[in-house]
Amino acid sequence: MFKTEFLDIPALAAAGGEVLLPGSKSISNRVLLLAALSEGTTAVHDLLDSDDTRVMLTALEQIGCMIERGASTLRITGIAGALPAGTAAELFLGNAGTAMRPLTAALSLLGGEFTMRGVPRMYERPIGDLVDGLRQIGCRIDYLGNAGFPPLRITPADFSADAKQPPIQVRGDVSSQFLTSLLMALPLRAAQQDIQIEVVGELISKPYIHITLELLARFGIAVHNDNWQRFTIPAGSRYRSPGDIHVEADASSASYFIALGAIAAQGSAGVRIQGVGAQSIQGDIRFVEAAQAMGAEVESGPNWLQVRRGRWPLQAIDLDCNHIPDAAMTLAVMALYAEGTTTLRNIASWRVKETDRIAAMACELRKLGATVEEGADYLRVTPPAQTADWRAASIHTYDDHRVAMCFSLAAFNPQQLPVRIEDPQCVAKTFPDYFEALFSVCETPRAQIPVICIDGPTASGKGTIAAEIAHRLGYGILDSGALYRIAGLAAHRAGIAIDPAHEAEIVALLGSLDIRFTPTHQILIDGEDVGHAIRSEEAGMDASRVSALPKVREALVALQLGFQQLPGLVADGRDMGTVIFPGAQLKVYLIASAECRAERRYKQLISKGISANITALRADLEARDARDMSRSVAPLKPAPDALSLDSSTLSIEQVVTQVLDWWQERQPFKPS
Ligand code: C5P
Repeated sequence: MFKTEFLDIPALAAAGGEVLLPGSKSISNRVLLLAALSEGTTAVHDLLDSDDTRVMLTALEQIGCMIERGASTLRITGIAGALPAGTAAELFLGNAGTAMRPLTAALSLLGGEFTMRGVPRMYERPIGDLVDGLRQIGCRIDYLGNAGFPPLRITPADFSADAKQPPIQVRGDVSSQFLTSLLMALPLRAAQQDIQIEVVGELISKPYIHITLELLARFGIAVHNDNWQRFTIPAGSRYRSPGDIHVEADASSASYFIALGAIAAQGSAGVRIQGVGAQSIQGDIRFVEAAQAMGAEVESGPNWLQVRRGRWPLQAIDLDCNHIPDAAMTLAVMALYAEGTTTLRNIASWRVKETDRIAAMACELRKLGATVEEGADYLRVTPPAQTADWRAASIHTYDDHRVAMCFSLAAFNPQQLPVRIEDPQCVAKTFPDYFEALFSVCETPRAQIPVICIDGPTASGKGTIAAEIAHRLGYGILDSGALYRIAGLAAHRAGIAIDPAHEAEIVALLGSLDIRFTPTHQILIDGEDVGHAIRSEEAGMDASRVSALPKVREALVALQLGFQQLPGLVADGRDMGTVIFPGAQLKVYLIASAECRAERRYKQLISKGISANITALRADLEARDARDMSRSVAPLKPAPDALSLDSSTLSIEQVVTQVLDWWQERQPFKPS
């Protein structure tokens, strides 16, 4: 997951390959609550692991459910429809509407005392209609802040006036989660009598109610659906665990990859999406039809979809999106690649989601150069008139995972501009590894993948600075010195003298090794972790000697180029800017006085418990500098376009800030 302040996605060219999607958020949190209310243990397979499911699980543990977490299966033992007397808890539900609303309904019927809190945005998301519905049957729920919104206080209900039950009325036109919450909770009151729920106003987001009904059926509750207007939970209903249940991959998450296929899978087999197929119980699967109408070519099987580019440019559409509220956001971004104006209608529910999504989409689409008309319940998008009208934008994401995910698709713009996604970790709500998954199926010419080179003499602080810059930008890192250290160590261990006479032998040896840099920054030679062994001063001297051999350097070029991967790279060494990445957008030549470098190295060694002598260290590093600067191939020197930075009197943070400032100056984004 990218935990950076922003993520710059370079211009992307094409897409192809396979992605495995995480479990659906809507299904995950419903299944958890139903399993929690059931008797017995439910094994939940492929549950989504995200912010929203985590807050739900914590809340369920707090009310007495037993939860065992396994690799791909989570086992949850429910409360069998009743809480132990005197249960009380303070629940924190983040920004998870799928936890706040159903839990409010269930807990207000179960007895016990609860406070329901969340993040500030949660306190702007309405819950009044649900509370009104529950109060009709004697539930006691008080507002701790503004009337109609969380936070809430729940105390045991008074069911005394409950003898003959009139239908419970609930508005259906604000959020379908209110009805879902009642449907999932009211079986708790259906032991002796039928319970009827009547929808007031037009029911929006029916597909989510469909998921609710399907899952209730899996847990033994057969709700009668009378034309989406009246729902009856039959007397005697009781939650029964199905034992095992599989969570489908999220169909809304699939929308980004369906769009990706339609926009960018030309001349390839397409983008294959595993985990969800056209027969899904999730309403957002009907996004497939909308994408097809815009030009996508889609094939489907029981648990997969395969999408290719068909018509190009895409076809603008005019669509009532009530049936695919979440996935429709993706259509707004596809509209950027369409001929004509796309109109998305009947999307008023966007205004009460994670953020006001109509306003958010309009604002961010305009930043990219689109013309957007925004109405109370519609959005009309006309793409930039010409290629030159596209703008490089820094996309504000409003703590809304879907804004972040759908705008990543703007990176396929014909102007080949990068896109900046602010606060990329907001995708954690439903798809923590979204960007990794996206990059795994995207291609882009190597020259478009940004590289920052940090070259300089031994112990000038390159490694520390490079690692920090990579961390702040979410980029990969190439510690090229490690490669020469590996070469030196391997030659040393094999008893091969490091001199020109043995050059070919060393190259052959390198070719026979399996060298790997793991995502957790381990360095492996044939599976052995050599991270420690290559860091000794002796290994540094061997590295310096081996690196003067031209054929050894040549043998390591391809390996180094292979590090230039999405979304970008920070490379440190001696010849990153001069030889390996001459086209890099930013080259920094980091220096420090010999005295200062010797001192830093000394402190570093002492802190690791390695004894050292500062005078000898200084002599060693001056000898290495001299050899690195005087060798015939790739001698250590600044690239002509490198920016020099003397770190002798600067702190690490000062150096990092300077390098990042230089980087930002080179980016096309206007501050948002
Ligand atoms: O940076 P580090 O001290 O790990 O590098 C070890 C040695 O590898 C350096 O002294 C230098 O001789 C060599 N090297 C190189 N070119 C690079 C990186 C390191 O020649 N790009």
